[in-house]
Amino acid sequence: MLGPVDPTDVRLPADVLPSDGRFGCGPSKVRPEQLDALVAAGTTVMGTSHRKAPVKQLVGSVRAGIADLFGLPDGWEVVLGNGGTTVFWDVATFGLVERRSQHLVFGEFSSKFADACAAAPHLDDPSVRSTDPGDHPDAVADPDVDVYALTHNETSTGVAMDLRRPAGASDGQLVAVDATSAAGGLPWRPDEVDVYYFAPQKCFASDGGLWLAACSPAAVERIERLTASDRWRPASLDLGVALANSRQDQTYNTPAVATLLLLDAQLRWMNDQGGIDWCVERSRTSAATLYGWAEARDWATPFVADPGKRSAVVGTIDLAEAIPAEGVNAALRANGIVDTDSYRKLGRNQLRIGMFPAIEPSDVEALTRCIDIVVEAFGA
Ligand SMILES: *Cc1c(COP(=O)(O)O)cnc(C)c1O
Repeated sequence: MLGPVDPTDVRLPADVLPSDGRFGCGPSKVRPEQLDALVAAGTTVMGTSHRKAPVKQLVGSVRAGIADLFGLPDGWEVVLGNGGTTVFWDVATFGLVERRSQHLVFGEFSSKFADACAAAPHLDDPSVRSTDPGDHPDAVADPDVDVYALTHNETSTGVAMDLRRPAGASDGQLVAVDATSAAGGLPWRPDEVDVYYFAPQKCFASDGGLWLAACSPAAVERIERLTASDRWRPASLDLGVALANSRQDQTYNTPAVATLLLLDAQLRWMNDQGGIDWCVERSRTSAATLYGWAEARDWATPFVADPGKRSAVVGTIDLAEAIPAEGVNAALRANGIVDTDSYRKLGRNQLRIGMFPAIEPSDVEALTRCIDIVVEAFGA
């Protein structure tokens, strides 16, 4: 594959290695201080009832921390439940989409919510606007839909989009955004969005298994109306049930308390460091390093052609054919640098680098130096 060089024989000098080798796009680097916080809560919160004060206070702290980080206006509510973003898509088919949705599809994740709505027997066929991977479509006002489904950051391709309510959209139409890999690392304005939903294993550096949704008053009104309707839905996927529980700082069924503890520690860190602006700037610094490095190499190219659409939290870099990404990843992994692989189904000779706020910008720089050394070792 690489001629005479076995990638796992490449040795990177200790003084060029990043301080932490985790560059995955989810689950992603958990900061050691979060794990310390988890251990500190080891006998007081872990292993105790989610219906009692300590865990309820934790859930309350997470809800308040999210409202604080995003500067949510009065009337917004933070709702949470079990199952991660994928389950939230099913939840939304029951409790958020009234009859028909419009989806912007530009990669694997954005296509999945569209598929869920298309499969739901109680919904009309969705309107789907799509582009090839590497770009994103725009939402267009359509009187025949009641939800616009956007994706803030398409994790499979490294394309980010500015969140804007489509011009001409009417008051009753909701903008629902999958922000799973963006939330906490990319900027957005609550007046352009009604539901900003995510899972905590990306910018929030926690573990998987939860979904969280910041909901505008218009979204809350929709949820309450659909909950009062006679549409059948399973209780575990009932957004109205989740809303009622969240208001009491609970989840409908038992949550992963450790995931909440890691999330809470990360939210405190983000808010203490300077809030969303600080987080956004940190990821932007990493991204400027990564894309600038790629543009300066004749064997590396940012996959996303339009610099304005390049994600600051998930960087995708195409490599020249002579340099198989598989070999680069194997060499990096042999040196403790992991999860730099591209999204499988995209099928490109590509590296994909997580640049979430938990990841040190200096480590992204160190990573670029390590890739240079690996490529040189390959003699490419
Ligand atoms: C990771 C990711 C998901 C899937 O999240 P799960 O919690 O695993 O369901 C969905 N959408 C986007 C944009 C993602 O990055």
